[in-house]
Amino acid sequence: MSCLKTSIPQVASSLQELVTAMEHASSLGVMMLVAWRLARQLAVKLVEEELTRRAQRPTEWPNCEKCGRKLESKGFVERQLTGLIGTVRWERREGRCPARCEIGQVAPLDTELGLQPNQRTSAGLKRAACALAVFVPFEIAAVLLSLLTEVVVSPGSIWNWVQGAGQEAMNRLKRQLEALENGRMPDEDVEAAVASLPLLVGADGVMVPFRPDGGKPNGRIVWREVKVAVLARLSQRITHTGEQASQLVHRRLVAVLGSIDDLSPRLWLEATRQGILSAKTVVWLCDGGRGFWRLFRDRFEKHAQGILDFYHAAQNLWKGAKAWLDGRTKRSRQWFAQARRKLRRGKANEVLADIQAALALEGLPDSARKTLQNLYDYLDTHRDHIDYARFKELGLPIGSGLVESACKWLIQQRFKGVGMRWSEDGFNHLLHLRLAWVNGRFDDLFALAASPGC
Ligand SMILES: [Zn+2]
Repeated sequence: MSCLKTSIPQVASSLQELVTAMEHASSLGVMMLVAWRLARQLAVKLVEEELTRRAQRPTEWPNCEKCGRKLESKGFVERQLTGLIGTVRWERREGRCPARCEIGQVAPLDTELGLQPNQRTSAGLKRAACALAVFVPFEIAAVLLSLLTEVVVSPGSIWNWVQGAGQEAMNRLKRQLEALENGRMPDEDVEAAVASLPLLVGADGVMVPFRPDGGKPNGRIVWREVKVAVLARLSQRITHTGEQASQLVHRRLVAVLGSIDDLSPRLWLEATRQGILSAKTVVWLCDGGRGFWRLFRDRFEKHAQGILDFYHAAQNLWKGAKAWLDGRTKRSRQWFAQARRKLRRGKANEVLADIQAALALEGLPDSARKTLQNLYDYLDTHRDHIDYARFKELGLPIGSGLVESACKWLIQQRFKGVGMRWSEDGFNHLLHLRLAWVNGRFDDLFALAASPGC
């Protein structure tokens, strides 16, 4: 009856065992598993057969790269490659120079097939392994890969592939930064559907555990700050309680293990890609911290409306109230509540006047005066960034929670597992791979463009 079941062992007798196992499968689950194994082995045989056919064709020998003589065949040599279907083995002709020049392995069929001289793994397998490693530790990635494909790969191999792909991502970024520096603008990466939405830019710092100098896995953890920035379009959605809330769409992340000055060109590169020069509204949303506002003044002020995170501003109001009126008193809480309300309603001038009035009081202790003066200067510096009533009216968010959680996610989910501590290289390579993934540029790192799904 079944022609497939009888014809498979006729062309590949080694598959008879699996055909029999399928016939005796006690459940559908087992039957499908065995059939899948059979299909994989059949695929290997099919590819091997095709490779053998191609290897038998006459070979066009190139000239020796050293002396220019035409290479000659030294006969058939075995080669193998492991991919998602398993390991494929075949023989093809290798060449040598009649003058015996040292030219390494030359096999025209390999070149025709897009193989690198020492390549032992297919791009598809590397891509799958690296994609798993973007989300889970290397050991788990190896287990999941063998569970999903039955291909056994060591965590160390996956680590190596991540290093390679991450390095490729870093090289690309370096070239793009150089191009931008030389005045070449990158192509915009904005879908038409989101082009009219406000563009939001924000940044934050996240701490990551590193190995101490020398990269040995033991010793005290050294915490270093990774600067992360998010660029996204803001759309409005209705929450289940019927309120309007902002959400980030077309999210792109930028990150660097380094200073604000290292972040600056990277963020500007991505901002131009995300259409900062053509967007109708651009918002810079940040809390008060660590040099990010200097970056705003240097690069973004001309293009973006700065918004100081409201909750950060309120926190500072509370600090002032506490220093001046003692945090335990009812009066300090009242003053704070009133100042916060005024700020939220767009009456920043009144808040500044209230602080000035407090500063004019006689007998104000020096420490309280200093704190209040700092608060005044802080709000005054951000005078253009605290007009919260207007921002709300324009449908813009006033809290940087969305920014902070997007930034934290990039780092938290993968780099801060129990017992994890990173070497600088190991961290950077995986970080850039993860960035490529979240930014939709992951597949570009693997030579698969011409052959999707392999
Ligand atoms: Zn030669």
